[in-house]
Amino acid sequence: MKLLEEKIRQDGNAVNEHILKVDSFINHQVDPALMQEMGKEIAEHFRGRGITKVATIESSGISPALMTALALEVPMVILKKQPSKILNQDLYQTVVTSFTKETNYELTLSKKFMTAEDHVLLVDDFLANGEAATAAIRLIRMSHATIAGLGVLIEKSFQPGREKLKSQGIEVYALARIGKMEENYIEFID
Ligand code: 5GP
Repeated sequence: MKLLEEKIRQDGNAVNEHILKVDSFINHQVDPALMQEMGKEIAEHFRGRGITKVATIESSGISPALMTALALEVPMVILKKQPSKILNQDLYQTVVTSFTKETNYELTLSKKFMTAEDHVLLVDDFLANGEAATAAIRLIRMSHATIAGLGVLIEKSFQPGREKLKSQGIEVYALARIGKMEENYIEFID
């Protein structure tokens, strides 16, 4: 998506060869008009596939997921992060390894909001190593819902996330794919 690539070039900050900061328009301050366009683009890609819900991981995924859910006219479900494991029979629970924080956290989903009748589109801001998405898919599958695919704003294609998801049979759709990054340098791939 050219609009997103231009915005990343203009306002994104490649901190080093691994981390891209997009906190002025995606995950701290948010550009609502751009976010709506991005949500529409993800929705158009997956439209007509019987999606009943859009799911995302708290908290950076909420803006793109909400806009995608709005365009598809379905509810959005937030998979919630919890610092420690508190057993609760009303929740599905799984552990995630965080890329940015280098820690583990618990991801939870209320049994009320996902069932075997659901066909779920997962949406997130970034795809890097695919750990967050893999855990989210594991959690959604506990409810016996099916997965339509993963839509992300930015894929760092030099990290193994796409391959990891492909090996689980998950289609990945990314609006911008970064092939290479260095401090103050970003290279996109188609
Ligand atoms: P993964 O599990 O695919 O390695 O990482 C996915 C999560 O880590 C995303 O939901 C995102 O919040 C965060 N993340 C990964 N790489 C970056 C990055 O370069 N910049 C930012 N801001 N977040 C990232």
